[in-house]
Amino acid sequence: MSEGMHQNTNGMLLNGKEQSDIIKGEIATQVSEIVSSGKRAPHLAAILVGEDGASKTYVKNKELACQKVGFTSTLLRYDATITEEELLNKIEEINNDDEIDGLIVQLPLPSHISENKVTQAINPAKDVDGFHDVNVGKLTKGEDTFISATPYGIIQLLDRYKIETSGKHCVVVGRSNIVGRPMSILMSRADNPGNCTVTLCHSRTKNLADFTRMADILIVALGRAEFVTGDMVKPGATVIDVGITRVPADNERGYVLRGDVEFDSCAAVAGAITPVPGGVGPMTIIGLMQNTLKSYQLRHA
Ligand code: NDP
Repeated sequence: MSEGMHQNTNGMLLNGKEQSDIIKGEIATQVSEIVSSGKRAPHLAAILVGEDGASKTYVKNKELACQKVGFTSTLLRYDATITEEELLNKIEEINNDDEIDGLIVQLPLPSHISENKVTQAINPAKDVDGFHDVNVGKLTKGEDTFISATPYGIIQLLDRYKIETSGKHCVVVGRSNIVGRPMSILMSRADNPGNCTVTLCHSRTKNLADFTRMADILIVALGRAEFVTGDMVKPGATVIDVGITRVPADNERGYVLRGDVEFDSCAAVAGAITPVPGGVGPMTIIGLMQNTLKSYQLRHA
């Protein structure tokens, strides 16, 4: 099946592209009110190191989203040879720049630079990716914080489509710090969406399908194309596919994007499902935009 053709589902298609356009419109309205009151627009800075193709695409999409909602955006690009110290100095400069509300450093970084050091160098008040230990800690305790962008986007998608989560069994596959683990925490929080009983699965989980088949809400973030098949899904479940894998293909780009979920077989049994592309990806950018607006509002309160 070609990209963008993922529309045949027995259940509901959770259209992240459509919802993200609606939410961008809502953010744009708020930004135009801010600007017409004489204040400056929210400002997101992004640092991109090196020439990774996927990273360049992600950063470009973030810049386009900023333009769309009326944010100011600054892209700082560095050669892969930049030293860790130079990068940390640049981050410190942005931390101290009152005109910048949010800073993201696109990962992965070259191997001579510690991602942890870089992530922890960002001022938690400008950490709109929500990766800093302070923000992760607050998330864990259920305190108000910058929720990392992908889980935040998924929460908003569930909310917009009024997917009932309270009392449901949510199974998350993947325990990374940026997706699976924060997602599991959010789904178990005492809030809506949330209040789920959560099972967190990973590569050491035995008999994975026994768990996925028990899920009322199945969130898959493991990074293996079309890994979850229809026989692993409980009839009527909500399936959220976070995965994005470039699979080699005989087309102009040389690849197609695939999720972690085999769409056709899962859509045949699911009650609701996200497509790839056009599902979680656009909602991730919404998470980032919302966090940047929030940072601006907190700094101008
Ligand atoms: P990571 O590689 O950091 O984590 C993958 C997780 O999946 C690990 O916890 C790993 O377990 C687990 N895993 C791997 N193989 C299996 C298996 N066979 N069975 C069960 N669990 C397994 O990936 P990310 O979380 O960063 O990303 C996951 C996917 O989501 C990728 O395709 C990525 O491109 C995509 N992504 C999409 C975003 C979007 O906006 N849509 C944003 C971020 C990521 P273990 O811990 O034991 O190794």
